[in-house]
Amino acid sequence: MLSSHEYDAVVVGAGPNGLAAAVRMAQQGFSTLVLEQSTTIGGACRTEQLTLPGFYHDVGSAVHPLALGSPFFSSLPLEEHGLSWLHPTIPLAHPIDNTRVATLYPSLEKTALLLGRDADHYNKLFRSLVTNWRSLLQEFLQPIIHPPQHPLRMAQFGRVALLSVEQLVRKRFSEETTKALLAGLGAHSFLSLSTPGSASFVLILGLLAHAVGWPIPQGGAGAITQALTHYLLSLGGKIETGVSIKSFRDVPRARAVLYDVTPRQLIQIESLPSSYQKKLESFKYGSAVFKIDYALDGSVPWIHEECHSAGTVHLGGTFEEVALAESKLGSSQYADRPFLLLSQPTLWDSSRAPAGRHILWAYTHVPFGSDHDFTGIIERQIDRFAPGFSKRILARRVSSPAQLEKMNPNLVGGTITGGANHLWQLIARPTLSAVPYRTPKRGVYLCSSSTPPGGGVHGMCGFHAANAVLRDFHRGLN
Ligand SMILES: Cc1cc2nc3c(=O)[nH]c(=O)nc-3n(C[C@H](O)[C@H](O)[C@H](O)COP(=O)(O)OP(=O)(O)OC[C@H]3O[C@@H](n4cnc5c(N)ncnc54)[C@H](O)[C@@H]3O)c2cc1C
Repeated sequence: MLSSHEYDAVVVGAGPNGLAAAVRMAQQGFSTLVLEQSTTIGGACRTEQLTLPGFYHDVGSAVHPLALGSPFFSSLPLEEHGLSWLHPTIPLAHPIDNTRVATLYPSLEKTALLLGRDADHYNKLFRSLVTNWRSLLQEFLQPIIHPPQHPLRMAQFGRVALLSVEQLVRKRFSEETTKALLAGLGAHSFLSLSTPGSASFVLILGLLAHAVGWPIPQGGAGAITQALTHYLLSLGGKIETGVSIKSFRDVPRARAVLYDVTPRQLIQIESLPSSYQKKLESFKYGSAVFKIDYALDGSVPWIHEECHSAGTVHLGGTFEEVALAESKLGSSQYADRPFLLLSQPTLWDSSRAPAGRHILWAYTHVPFGSDHDFTGIIERQIDRFAPGFSKRILARRVSSPAQLEKMNPNLVGGTITGGANHLWQLIARPTLSAVPYRTPKRGVYLCSSSTPPGGGVHGMCGFHAANAVLRDFHRGLN
């Protein structure tokens, strides 16, 4: 290490990607400091008492198939540092109306069996993906432009992944239950269901459900970033909280600075070549979320039995209803019956609420930066599938897009994926480059979910960014 540097690596931001990058650097023996603007670590992956004392809510992420399946996290001793996983009996239930519900079970066969005429097609869609899930995830959770290690499998995956959800459904499925189930999975893309590439979210989330489940960490999402922090400290890494970096001049001298921030923030902090800055300025953020955390005096009074055993519930009714709700996101309009994502962790983790009480995590997709209050619309939609829900509410914490961004500046305009997921931006994230983590300014890197492979708690953006730094160290570039 050069004596003029205080650290080999400084990481700005202690979200899952910042922590992953710091762990990777510290594992290789490099002195590493993490600076976090908030007084607590974890970014959009932490757990707090947001409503009433004794009710522990997930501030951001709640359901973690990507964290459990992550090639990097799987290589770390996170269980030794306090992380343990809980597996809901049913990963996902999607009620359609009072009589029909689609159910995603851990077992591919059991899920298919309940899909009537679509059983064979569903089996066929997921069978080889589930068999080869490790290698597929490895390929998928890195920059799209790379020499594939399993070209045939990737080609098979790509043929379907490049479709829109609408095309996938029209080509292969006819049962209302299958169509609704796939619509809900595809809606995680934050794209209209007619957008090419939205089917990739169906494939990844479906294969994860059947391969690793949709687990929740004991104690809440914060257990993941707490475990990463403990491990980092055990490796000699350092963390300072309550330090907001406004300019690169605030960062201690280091051979490499890795920013766990999005392009808009990077432009404000760093002085970058104007051509690169222009490219970052054209980066698109996509649609946002409006989130409500509930403290309840009992579990949600679902009509359908399956929902009582489901970790995650998608509310949105039929394929057509979900498609309509998601198609409105690009405009300033919104659907009366929105698509909702709910997580009910206290069905498996009694440590997160006082005895007999429950929490519920709910959000809906809304236009970027929307200042509309969606509370009424959300609660009417929950009441539709769980009559009497409203009467169980003890307290609620509403987070609008503006409030989300205030809590964590990476949630620009209330967006939670680090940038829009349309095809071009999945390839050029944040710009088209063989090493998208490296900026043109020597020693400056980006490691947030605005880099490949994008949003979700998996730490792979941080891992790949740190690897880019390590390669540059090796080549004597920094
Ligand atoms: C409501 C919501 C629900 C979600 N649900 C899920 C889910 O169920 N499953 C899932 O896998 N993913 C989910 N996600 C997405 C997931 O949380 C993110 O993709 C992930 O946290 C991104 O990690 P990151 O490290 O890139 O950024 P972040 O987690 O946003 O962390 C960035 C960190 O950098 C800090 N920071 C920013 N600017 C500065 C600065 N100038 N100086 C110092 N520090 C700074 C921030 O305070 C923050 O701590 C959800 C996110 C939200 C908000």
